[in-house]
Amino acid sequence: MAQALGNLFILAAPSGAGKSSLIKALLEKHTQTDMHNTQMQVSVSHTTRDPRPGEVDGQHYHFVSKDAFRAMIEDDVFFEWAEVFGNYYGTSKVVIEQTLRQGIDVFLDIDWQGARQVKAQIPDTATIFVAPPSKQELRRRLTARNQDSQDVIDQRMEKAVAEISHYHEFDYVIVNDDFDAALAELDAIVISRRLRKEKQVVRHQALFDALLGQ
Ligand code: 5GP
Repeated sequence: MAQALGNLFILAAPSGAGKSSLIKALLEKHTQTDMHNTQMQVSVSHTTRDPRPGEVDGQHYHFVSKDAFRAMIEDDVFFEWAEVFGNYYGTSKVVIEQTLRQGIDVFLDIDWQGARQVKAQIPDTATIFVAPPSKQELRRRLTARNQDSQDVIDQRMEKAVAEISHYHEFDYVIVNDDFDAALAELDAIVISRRLRKEKQVVRHQALFDALLGQ
């Protein structure tokens, strides 16, 4: 059976919207069921920020120095890159291209600046924005995470609002109020992208040949 090209998804959200948990749950679900014979991967970005406790190099991010990152920009390594709150973040070109070519769906967990760059290069990308259900709930989630000072929480809120101000640039919007409902909505987007005729024609070529007696 011929291999359909993998689908590219971008999931963007302010910190506190539940994006990481949604991606994790989606991956678990799809790994268990191997739906539509299609695998799914989350791209591991490069970043110049320091690892947080529990973060593993090569798993959560590839942690690199600013000099190394700049050299990679010069070498045209990145599919997209952006400066986010004082640090550089970027997605490697080779990995994305190879993975999609293998028919594997790829999820990018990147900000609005990266989403713009990717969409300009691959208009077929499904860009999804995850929003929190209210400002109060966003503040609660950003506060619950750490025991930080009011100043730090206010800064986080400001950053979140800056990211949210770009929500209208995305193809899909999910409001993450009830986690299971948000996960079902994300899954619906993934499934509908996979069922597009352009993908199904390739995936089921043998079936249609047989059905049509060729
Ligand atoms: P954090 O430092 O909290 O892991 O991520 C900060 C922000 O950078 C998040 O909005 C995240 O989606 C974004 N980000 C992570 N990796 C990339 C990347 O490769 N490219 C871009 N443009 N943004 C990224």
